[in-house]
Amino acid sequence: MTVKANYDVIILGTGPAGLQAAIHAARKKVSVLVLGKETKSSLFHAHVENFCCLFNVSGEDMLAVGRQQAANFGADMLEEDVLGVASADSLFRVTTESGRALDCKSLIVATGTARNKLGVAGEKDLLGKGVSYCVECDANFYKGEDVAVIGGASAAVSGALTLLDYAATVHLVCGELEVADTLKAQLAQSAVIVHEKAKVKEIVGQTGVEGVVLEDGSKLAVSGVFIELGAKGVMELATHLGVRLDDEMKYVDTNKKMETNIPGVYAAGDICGPPWQMAKAVGEGCVAGLNAAIYAKKVRKS
Ligand SMILES: Cc1cc2nc3c(=O)[nH]c(=O)nc-3n(C[C@H](O)[C@H](O)[C@H](O)COP(=O)(O)OP(=O)(O)OC[C@H]3O[C@@H](n4cnc5c(N)ncnc54)[C@H](O)[C@@H]3O)c2cc1C
Repeated sequence: MTVKANYDVIILGTGPAGLQAAIHAARKKVSVLVLGKETKSSLFHAHVENFCCLFNVSGEDMLAVGRQQAANFGADMLEEDVLGVASADSLFRVTTESGRALDCKSLIVATGTARNKLGVAGEKDLLGKGVSYCVECDANFYKGEDVAVIGGASAAVSGALTLLDYAATVHLVCGELEVADTLKAQLAQSAVIVHEKAKVKEIVGQTGVEGVVLEDGSKLAVSGVFIELGAKGVMELATHLGVRLDDEMKYVDTNKKMETNIPGVYAAGDICGPPWQMAKAVGEGCVAGLNAAIYAKKVRKS
């Protein structure tokens, strides 16, 4: 495919937010380029059963269909990472890893989040085979089984409480509980087995998770491990442009049109904060795509 030097809209990210934005922008008859690698989308390793109107679909298959749809409506695709973004004279210039410089009138940042990792043996190898970073997404796969949640903040504690509705036994492994008193009381009254001042040494298993080994040498026999240590937005590119973040400096701040504080720059998906779910990502992508196209058309006329 020939990639042009100028586009009306450039989208950073080829996950569900970026692809939905591309579909809606391209259908507004503006030129669109989507940048990024599909294998780096959070969705790539997911198995989705909570997205309306679709059941039990692999994330990899969904991304392939999304890319095809966006291309069918005229969006160009370039599987390259972006290294820099700058603005000048109502245009944005994007520099890619191969050294291309691409200009656009309007920019959508949909670069997702990076889940905080535990950093122990077994975590990477058993991802998608019992290791999960999302209770909301995967709880239903552990009906009647024994599971462990790792983390001591509110996401981990509410995740453990949610899992009680699915799993037979729920362990919560944390250094310290860092939650409000009401949540602490809820946890104390629940059936969750709390291992405070404990640290995971290793996640073990051959073809799937078989257990978690703690630093004191004890082992919890579980078939699911939910790592709930939070996430951070992949927002280096956005902050280079001066895009404003939320009060906790974790996510891109947008209004209901998915506009950032910088005219012509929009954001969508996980980078805008939780819930980190595909349904939210595509909704925001749709809004960002439509508004970025309208903005680009206005710049064209001016
Ligand atoms: C294991 C797992 C299971 C999940 N299961 C579910 C589920 O069952 N249901 C559900 O709703 N959600 C699920 N999720 C969450 C869902 O995948 C995310 O909410 C969704 O993918 C967010 O979409 P996004 O487009 O914002 O970001 P992503 O899909 O993460 O896409 C980000 C994109 O930005 C690109 N990018 C990043 N940096 C750059 C750069 N410098 N230059 C160019 N491109 C860049 C990446 O390559 C990627 O293409 C799951 C997530 C994980 C990790």
